[in-house]
Amino acid sequence: MATTRVTLLPGDGIGPEVVAAACRVLVATGVPIEWETHQVGQAAAPGPGLPEAVLASVRANGVALKGPVTTTKERTGPPSVNVGLRTALDLFAQVRPVRSRTGLRTPFTGVDLAVIRDTTEDLYGGVQLDAGAPETEAVIDVVNRAGRGVVRPGSAIGIKPVSEAACRRLMAFALQYARDNGYRRVTAVHKASAMRSTDGLFLEVARDVAGEFPDVAFDEMLVDSTCAALVRHPQEFGVLATLNLYGDILSDLAAALVGGVGLAPGENVGPGAAVFEAAHGSAPKHAGSGRANPMAMILSGAMLLRHIGRSEAADRVEAAVDAVVAEGTTLTYDLERTPADRPPASTDEVATAVIEAMGRR
Ligand code: NAD
Repeated sequence: MATTRVTLLPGDGIGPEVVAAACRVLVATGVPIEWETHQVGQAAAPGPGLPEAVLASVRANGVALKGPVTTTKERTGPPSVNVGLRTALDLFAQVRPVRSRTGLRTPFTGVDLAVIRDTTEDLYGGVQLDAGAPETEAVIDVVNRAGRGVVRPGSAIGIKPVSEAACRRLMAFALQYARDNGYRRVTAVHKASAMRSTDGLFLEVARDVAGEFPDVAFDEMLVDSTCAALVRHPQEFGVLATLNLYGDILSDLAAALVGGVGLAPGENVGPGAAVFEAAHGSAPKHAGSGRANPMAMILSGAMLLRHIGRSEAADRVEAAVDAVVAEGTTLTYDLERTPADRPPASTDEVATAVIEAMGRR
């Protein structure tokens, strides 16, 4: 079996713990992987950030497993490593599959959907203008003089760019993903009723691209209605294709319906690289405690295996996670344990249980 070189980015917060657990599981599959480890975020040297060597490594290997990275909420803080990585590598589509698992007492069973969002544009595009800055006042002045609405002087501004090219690429990816993965329905999620220029363009393009996929059922839904429908009958959804901000929120919401972010994997896909990472963040309050749930990262590793053509190993990892969840005895604090008063398992104990479950198959 040929060895695959994979860039490994442990990240910070709980990242190194859950990434180490996922690596143990991937190694136990027997798939030969050579890890090329780089530090990003708070762990990077000489200071927090996204070293150029990281980008070069992901570009060269084409595939990475990444832990979460803390992003400051302070206005003057360093730029987001996550946004930087996606921008530099043109990782335009983020896929977050959400699936019910037997054994958890969650509000729903039978959920099997995927949230796919564009990650290049929208309000996360990085165009943030501070209140009172000269460039902000200049933009406000232009907008007010153009008669396209009234922006109060002194406001902070976030710009929401949405281009036809990005929408077209995202929708083609989402529809093809649905076709390849057996989802029969793709829903374009938008708020075109309130944002006609941006979301209206997204919707027009979505309809147009959907016409090229006659075998995939296509519909459209306002983002607020989508939230309501998700918490009432999530089983009815297949792929939800959407813009950056809505997708970020919807994927956490959907994950919470079937066990939470501790079980939610993901991938960021671009033309030259794919970066696999859990939907959750760095959970700083649990960093170093050994309590974090590694399952989302392990499942992201399974997605990575499938991406590099090791579907059989990916199936084994996913089935083993399902078995450990169904048994209910070796689960971290965030999932319901059987019996409920059993102490939560540690990150490492869960990885060991998954490896043992793989061995039983
Ligand atoms: P978070 O996902 O880190 O935490 C939200 C809640 O979920 C917390 O209660 C946390 O304890 C819990 N949680 C998260 N992961 C868990 C796990 N594996 N096991 C058990 N419980 C888990 O979200 P947050 O608190 O909003 O963000 C923390 C930091 O992470 C922020 O700096 C944020 O910017 C960053 N973040 C990074 C990424 C990424 O790197 N892709 C994604 C989201 C958030």
